[in-house]
Amino acid sequence: MFVTIDDGWEKDPAFVRLVRERRIPLTLFLTNAAIKDDYGYFTGLRRAGALIEDHTMTHPYLPKLSYARQREEICAPADIYARRYGTRPTLLRAPYGATDRATLRAARDCGMKAVLFWREVVTNGRIAYQSGHRLRPGDILLVHFKPHMTADFERLLRTIDEQGLRPAAIREHLPAGYFRS
Ligand SMILES: [Zn+2]
Repeated sequence: MFVTIDDGWEKDPAFVRLVRERRIPLTLFLTNAAIKDDYGYFTGLRRAGALIEDHTMTHPYLPKLSYARQREEICAPADIYARRYGTRPTLLRAPYGATDRATLRAARDCGMKAVLFWREVVTNGRIAYQSGHRLRPGDILLVHFKPHMTADFERLLRTIDEQGLRPAAIREHLPAGYFRS
């Protein structure tokens, strides 16, 4: 299964240590408005192996916007993250999971290879299951950068482990063309 973490408002230094020490593969969908006060925090996670991907400039409800505005929301952070983190995002997560046809066109025109959704949402380390009480291989978990997230995340890792699964790197499970190095 795959762990994705969205937005980026909270920046807990202990979380970077946990990710580094436990070598947890993560995909981060970052909103520029949430991270611009401390881009360096995410450099730490990047160095620990996390992928930095696109979650728009200001976290709008994209279907309300014109194609041109959607394109701006998606392209601008990709350019900024390419400069800051050395790799241009190729995955988009739309705020609220809300997309329309213009979103998909804008994402493609900004160089995105896929728009990623999720299956389970994790709140305070607890998984809201879609069906039953188990994760399934291949599930995508949605977590947010939150206060106390290190302890919550350790609880989440225990739950995943108890179910006989482990977080995998999404890079190794999408076709090669989905990523540029
Ligand atoms: Zn979000």
